[in-house]
Amino acid sequence: MIGATTLKEEDLSATIIDGKAFAANLRGKIAQQVERLKADHGLTPGLAVVLVGETPASQVYVRSKGKQTVEAGMQSFEHKMPASTSQAELLQKVDELNNDPAVHGILVQLPLPDQIDEQAIINAIDPAKDVDGFHVINAGRLMTGGKGEAAPLVPCTPLGCLMLLKDHLGSLSGKTAVVVGRSNIVGKPMGQLLLAESCTVTTAHSRTQDLPAVCRGADILVAAVGRPEMIRGDWIKPGATVIDVGINRVEGEPGPDGKPKGKLVGDVATQEAMEVAGAITPVPGGVGPMTIACLLANTVTAACRQAGVSVPEV
Ligand code: NDP
Repeated sequence: MIGATTLKEEDLSATIIDGKAFAANLRGKIAQQVERLKADHGLTPGLAVVLVGETPASQVYVRSKGKQTVEAGMQSFEHKMPASTSQAELLQKVDELNNDPAVHGILVQLPLPDQIDEQAIINAIDPAKDVDGFHVINAGRLMTGGKGEAAPLVPCTPLGCLMLLKDHLGSLSGKTAVVVGRSNIVGKPMGQLLLAESCTVTTAHSRTQDLPAVCRGADILVAAVGRPEMIRGDWIKPGATVIDVGINRVEGEPGPDGKPKGKLVGDVATQEAMEVAGAITPVPGGVGPMTIACLLANTVTAACRQAGVSVPEV
């Protein structure tokens, strides 16, 4: 188990699952794999990221993806397009990248401007290069348990959550898991991954009746809601493992200038949860860093499959 620490305070007993340390270790392993692929097969995995428009959060994500791709020894291709880009222009860019042999992974940063149909763009990406795992072929392969050549590329955030869970708990078989949230990028694939690990899975959402009671049944509770600290301490089963995917910017304490400083919180009320849970991911420093590390892992997987080289274990 990497980077897990138990807090010393008497009233806070949960183990903190240190996603930041785990992700750093994973990136280190990926860099070693890339070195070997270059030396043994002359293969340098390449990741292309397409950014349409100038949304500040997306710019930050794209910058860190590019930086971490290069740090892992891979090639990074950044394509910035104006906010006025038409669907046809973006489809043309995707087609160009699908046909570029130096590009093994393609990620189109979401959200896209209103004039563009996101699903049409995602489904235009070659499924073999769909390192976000959002293409309908990869979603279907995940759902049907595809193996070998039919193995899916798995969405990065739920893949990162699964790695943390397996590192912390070992086998997940037979555990009761509740995923709060049913988005295509987090909630639904998370549920599929847990089902594939033989958990008994409930996917909860905004229409779920008595959500606190549903959550209290969970050995594994994954929160992917987008509502700051919605999941309270008394919603958690004593000893449960809690994975907080939420990233919510809220007003913090006033700074020296008297103005409130922004801070990040998750979907779980962490302090309360730490009194009940067995283990929990913090925000920031939990799931967040895992997402880009898993993107790099998916790029290596995609490059190996395209080159007919066996995929290294992580
Ligand atoms: P979406 O907005 O797409 O989905 C949110 C889900 O939460 C929906 O299924 C919705 O239900 C459900 N929900 C909303 N309100 C409630 C409620 N009151 N009770 C129960 N369920 C509710 O969000 P995402 O899946 O994209 O993201 C979820 C969170 O994860 C966000 O905070 C996001 O920032 C974060 N995130 C973090 C990542 C990381 O790298 N760590 C990556 C991706 C996301 P319904 O379907 O019924 O509307």
